[in-house]
Amino acid sequence: MKTLRIISVLSLLFLGGVTYVILNQQNTSRSNTYDVTQAVFTKSPVKQPSVNLQTRTNDVLNKWQDQHLEATEWGEHISGVKNKIDTEEKIIALTFDACGGTWGEKYDETLINFLKEEEIPATLFINARWIEANKETFMMLAEEPLFSIQNHGTNHLPLSVSGQTAWGIEGTTSAEEIIHEVMDNQTLIYEMTGHLPEFFRSGTAHYDDLAVQMTQDLGLTTVNYDVLGDAGATYSTSEVEEALLTVVPGSIPLLHMNQPKSGTAEGVMAAIPQLKENGFTFVHLVDQTLVE
Ligand SMILES: [Zn+2]
Repeated sequence: MKTLRIISVLSLLFLGGVTYVILNQQNTSRSNTYDVTQAVFTKSPVKQPSVNLQTRTNDVLNKWQDQHLEATEWGEHISGVKNKIDTEEKIIALTFDACGGTWGEKYDETLINFLKEEEIPATLFINARWIEANKETFMMLAEEPLFSIQNHGTNHLPLSVSGQTAWGIEGTTSAEEIIHEVMDNQTLIYEMTGHLPEFFRSGTAHYDDLAVQMTQDLGLTTVNYDVLGDAGATYSTSEVEEALLTVVPGSIPLLHMNQPKSGTAEGVMAAIPQLKENGFTFVHLVDQTLVE
């Protein structure tokens, strides 16, 4: 009887110990996936911004806000905007915008599932309004190593110091509005994912030269495209396919992942096997040297 009692006491102690270790491990692993910045998930070690985002925003605002600002360039391919990878290798960086807003907050699941099945890396430029409307999907995309999340603005505005218009959308009208358009979404993405976007593409892909400089001061590079892949998701399947087959080494095609009824997914699905056959491989924009 005495031996039995000792065995059962020892077993209880052992079980208690195992439970303690398991609980502690859970706590440890949980604390590893969370971060002081309240990042919900990290797919690789969290990047700490070299300066506090709010400090950086204030510094850039102080630099620009009381100046008389007169832009000299306006458009999609102006000085400072990168449109290609500097390479002669047959690599291309597919980029997909998610614009948000009443007509732009849908999710092209067919397209994203195809990229996943084919293991095609892609860079996703995502607007704050799309994130708000698709939080769970956004986190799924952010957790997927195939996809690199970048900044497509807060209210999807052309980036201008003077309210210039593109595609019927009136742009920002001041340095303050430009800085908010970039940094509100930058902060949202950082707080949700723990990753700080390195690239910015404005709503409509239009900028003036001062807005490009301000974006640089905020720590981001403006990136547009050399191949118009779906023309604002208005192209038919065969037009998307034809556009993608014009790529050259280092191309950055611009397409959309927020218009499931467009020809984009089918066009991409038709073009990618041909591009692979022609020897092209697919890369993220990060870690590439970009040129105008
Ligand atoms: Zn857009």
